Amino acid sequence: MQPIGKMMDRPLLISAILEHGAAQFGQQEVVSRETHGPLHRYTFSDLAKRAKQFANALQHLGLRPGSVVGSIAWNNYRHLEAYYAVSGSGLVMHTCNPRLHPEQLIYIINHAEDEVVLFDSTFAPLIKAVASHCPRVKHWVCLSEAAHTPAVEGVKVQSYEELLAPQAPVFEWPDLDEKSGAALCYTSGTTGNPKGVLYSHRAITLSALSDCLPGVLCISAQETVLPVVPMFHINAWCLPYASLIGGAKLVLPGPRLDGASLHELMETEKVTVSAGVPTIWMGLIQHVEQNNLHFTTMRRTGVGGSAMPRALIAKFSDVYGVEVCHGWGMTETTAVATMSNLSAADMALPAQERHDRVAKQGKSVFGVEIKVVDEQGATLPRDGVSQGELMVRGQWIVERYHKAEGSALVNGWFPTGDIATISPEGVMQIKDRTKDVIKSGGEWISSIDLENAAAAHPGVAMAAVIGVAHPKWDERPLLLVVRKPQAEFEKQELLDFLAGRVAKWWVPDDVVFVDSLPVGGTGKVQKNELRQKYGSIFSS
Ligand code: AMP
Repeated sequence: MQPIGKMMDRPLLISAILEHGAAQFGQQEVVSRETHGPLHRYTFSDLAKRAKQFANALQHLGLRPGSVVGSIAWNNYRHLEAYYAVSGSGLVMHTCNPRLHPEQLIYIINHAEDEVVLFDSTFAPLIKAVASHCPRVKHWVCLSEAAHTPAVEGVKVQSYEELLAPQAPVFEWPDLDEKSGAALCYTSGTTGNPKGVLYSHRAITLSALSDCLPGVLCISAQETVLPVVPMFHINAWCLPYASLIGGAKLVLPGPRLDGASLHELMETEKVTVSAGVPTIWMGLIQHVEQNNLHFTTMRRTGVGGSAMPRALIAKFSDVYGVEVCHGWGMTETTAVATMSNLSAADMALPAQERHDRVAKQGKSVFGVEIKVVDEQGATLPRDGVSQGELMVRGQWIVERYHKAEGSALVNGWFPTGDIATISPEGVMQIKDRTKDVIKSGGEWISSIDLENAAAAHPGVAMAAVIGVAHPKWDERPLLLVVRKPQAEFEKQELLDFLAGRVAKWWVPDDVVFVDSLPVGGTGKVQKNELRQKYGSIFSS
């Protein structure tokens, strides 16, 4: 008979991450850009004390184990305190995306059964719009001192600092089951209502540990981490936890995510690692280029949420010396599921080939397995060519949506809705979302590959490709382009440029120049909107 290992059975808990951070790296800094006033700075040890004060305050408000606390907030130190206080004390931290349509926000606050909602003063108008539709919320708490707590018509708003002030900085964290729910995040729900993913303490801890690995984001006490990826979306890739596990200085950017503000913060705080969506990095690079700046300390940046254009990878690496770590994940995967993770042989490749490799979404991290399947669910070969739906399973992958009756899995795997290939070496490449892939004459065209090719044109700031109904071919690609300031080129030049880079039948049937592309709350181009607007361009 297989003997049982004779090891301690200690649960993986979020409170343990905080205690570890405070005990081992107590003097490490958290720097936070606030909506009001100068940068705020304190240490992990201060963070732990205040998280305990807030845990006491939450008990004082009458919350019971499993109660849900919502947040509508930027990445800042009070939000961080709430991350630890709420989950650590056995409550559920429900991070809400403020860029959701108010109706969806109301839906998720009610569906999650939030009893308290924490919000940044910036979002006071939003609170006014939703509060009367959220009858279960007993306390609306502004994450500020009394002086900056706005009056919201018809809503009793409390100040976070006033709640905190009378509480002791001592709190006995409960010994929870590591499988209990710690945090809740809803998908952005472009079709139908958003769906909730209830992360366990175990899932978050394991995912955060994985962030610290050298092949992932290598978070250690030698790093200064700037998570631009929002704390309201996919747990900011678990970086608020990973930084305390690894002991890294944490820099929180607050509401200012434009290129100039981020560059300034990176330089003044000597940031070495960051993470965010490609649109953020486009804004940053544009600012750096236009002002002839550089990066003094930045070593690498994690990118995900949508495909990072190869041209941008090359620029970061070759011009600015910043390594791009291209990852893939979704709300349903807690944080990072795959990462570019280059081998020594990859590093030795000529720059062009290395960038091609980084433009793919990479290898699954330990704890996550991936495969691609055909429409019948049969596993496709790892040959780098066969494309099918990406399936994923692992310790921090959703099993069923919050309050759903049935499992979300198919034969034990989560169907992601992404179309991908996997190479013999295990390198995964996202080709499209199932709903975005273009079906032309029975063959598939990858909108991501086309966007990548267009983004390589020196005058292109942003590109999006959609499939548009076509009388002969079912669908044909339409390319929408935002030109860089001062860039002068016309349609034909771009089409000729593409003709040299993609198969002839992939070349879009038309190009539309636009001033901007609609970008949603999680940094993705809203192709639904584009399809609505341009969906009949080839049939009219
Ligand atoms: P969300 O749940 O809002 O984080 O969205 C997850 C989806 O974003 C995935 O299913 C992918 O379609 C897309 N996505 C995430 N990372 C990448 C990436 N590196 N490249 C392409 N698409 C990505």
